[in-house]
Amino acid sequence: MKWPQSFYEMREGRGCAMCEQGRPEETAHGVRFFAGAVSDAYLQRTSIQRGYTVVVWRGRHVAEPTELAPEEASAYWLEVVRAARALETHFHPVKTNYNVLGNSLPHMHTHIIPRYADDPRPGWPFPFPEGEPDPIDEDVLRADVEALRKLCGT
Ligand SMILES: [Zn+2]
Repeated sequence: MKWPQSFYEMREGRGCAMCEQGRPEETAHGVRFFAGAVSDAYLQRTSIQRGYTVVVWRGRHVAEPTELAPEEASAYWLEVVRAARALETHFHPVKTNYNVLGNSLPHMHTHIIPRYADDPRPGWPFPFPEGEPDPIDEDVLRADVEALRKLCGT
């Protein structure tokens, strides 16, 4: 099985949706709670897991952390940690997972997934369901975003 040709093009930044979107306050998938110097953290609307967040690198198009200069990499990971610290303070997970994948959208981003005492697969990587589950309640989402913004000092 081969990667589609479109993947190679996106890998080089052609037709990259994350480059094209700029730095919006909200996307179809999430609401931003932290706008850093080099990244944006979006609390996801999906009900897959409460607190599920995606942190998107907002510099030039890169697909891998290895494409960053040392100071860019430090800035990025420090911002990922800042967002994750806010998530831990607000949601009190048992464990926090960081997925750097980019297999369908190869623009560097990090999935932060809080793992709770009640979890779909303790001891293993988080089992993302196929398809798109319902969004979480809008009032809950907005309240979480507000709390996370305060915790990030924004
Ligand atoms: Zn890109």
